[in-house]
Amino acid sequence: MLYVSTRGNAQPVSSAEAIKQGLAPDGGLFVPNAQVKLTPDQLQVMRELNYPERAVMILKQFLTDFTEPELQDCVAQAYSPAKFSHPAITPIAKLNPSVYLLELWHGPTCAFKDLALQLLPHLLTLSLKKTGEAAEIAILVATSGDTGKAALEGFKDVAGTKIIVFYPDQGVSEVQKRQMLTQEGQNVSVVAVAGNFDDAQEGVKNIFGNQEFNQTLSQKQIKLSSANSINWGRLVPQIVYYISAYVDLIKAREIIPGEPINIVVPTGNFGNILAAFYAREMGLPFNRLICAANTNNVLTDFIRTGVYDRNRPFEKTISPSMDILVSSNLERLLFELSDRDSQRINTWMGQLKENGRYQIDSSLQQTIQARFWSDFATDAETLDTISETYAKYNYVLDTHTAVGKCVYDKYAAATDDKAKTLIASTASPFKFSNKVAEAIIGTEASQAQDEFAVLELLAKTGNLPIPKGLQGLAQKPVLHHLKTERMAMQDTVSQLLNPNSLE
Ligand SMILES: *Cc1c(COP(=O)(O)O)cnc(C)c1O
Repeated sequence: MLYVSTRGNAQPVSSAEAIKQGLAPDGGLFVPNAQVKLTPDQLQVMRELNYPERAVMILKQFLTDFTEPELQDCVAQAYSPAKFSHPAITPIAKLNPSVYLLELWHGPTCAFKDLALQLLPHLLTLSLKKTGEAAEIAILVATSGDTGKAALEGFKDVAGTKIIVFYPDQGVSEVQKRQMLTQEGQNVSVVAVAGNFDDAQEGVKNIFGNQEFNQTLSQKQIKLSSANSINWGRLVPQIVYYISAYVDLIKAREIIPGEPINIVVPTGNFGNILAAFYAREMGLPFNRLICAANTNNVLTDFIRTGVYDRNRPFEKTISPSMDILVSSNLERLLFELSDRDSQRINTWMGQLKENGRYQIDSSLQQTIQARFWSDFATDAETLDTISETYAKYNYVLDTHTAVGKCVYDKYAAATDDKAKTLIASTASPFKFSNKVAEAIIGTEASQAQDEFAVLELLAKTGNLPIPKGLQGLAQKPVLHHLKTERMAMQDTVSQLLNPNSLE
């Protein structure tokens, strides 16, 4: 299988090459050039497999230039008991007879990004070997909070790589910031950007797109790549857990084989929900993919009206990992559902860059609406959902997952769809303990102390263990102090990659 660019102006490449490059040279995103299907027989076989085995079965169909033993080795390292605190890797919690939570946060950094970012470094290292790459790879990351830490953990001290993470100075939670600033490793840098996530993401994309800069780097034997969900190697591991969850629900006799279920995904950059879309295309009986947004509800408007318009105020919400107005992975969806029409993609992406807005045609809009539904939750609704869910089911949701639950409730009220529903639970509540404690204990409790003391409080109240990755965070030394303006991000990169350039 080869990978082609959504913009249609790049050579088709192998999966190893696509993973190495991250973004296609024409500015597009790589997508597989053929469909992958899963038969009911294969799903049946999967029932008897554990998570790593299921992962190999799915990955090998997309990453066709990797051997099965290579993939086995990668997933064994990624999904080991040393990394994931739950033996099932992605366990399912049953909230009520028709709603289930897919807990994707049992990895080292307590958010779903670990599922992909524990695997990506292994895939990338192999990709470098397979493509005979001699250059050092510099991973540039823009993060809304969770990708950064997960990528740092995944890539720390990985031979042949350096990683530079840019996070929005004011845009991440205290816990998220401290997780990144205390990161150890010889090859890691963490830089605060004055601005929001979109500024950081645009800055990184501009660096990727600067031919001259990339040539200068390649003369120094350095190549840039990405650990954001624009990289196919980041997306493909996410397909696995949706399929695995469906198989688990059958195995637990919660559904019968072939029974349609809905999938709810708290969405920002459209990566996680796109993975659910690919699983659906593979034949999984997913009825509706429910795109849950916070008040940065560009995607809700888009799915409802066919107009994508980023011209609106950027809101800082209590679900900061979803504070995004330009959702990169939507480009892949548009490509897949528009008969792979690169010309239209180029037009829309050009308009987005120029005017911050584009409108798709009504037939494509209908195609999207047949598969997706969307609504959003305000911060107040999100807090209410956390306290309600705790009172009713004694289950503590994080702020992002609560957006998912709230939007699902809106969906259930707006439609008479009674299908069982799986909500992607994207982070541990401890990552956003201040707001979660405010919802279940009260404002006094959360305001009384700093965010790290609130971890303890939340643990006591909710009778939950503090995840290993978040223990002792307040005591760890801060190792990173760099700050940059958006316009100076490229200079920061060249200084970090080539210390002599300062002389
Ligand atoms: C990244 C993130 C999201 C958004 O996921 P996308 O793939 O960017 O849509 C939602 N919740 C949490 C906790 C996240 O870290």
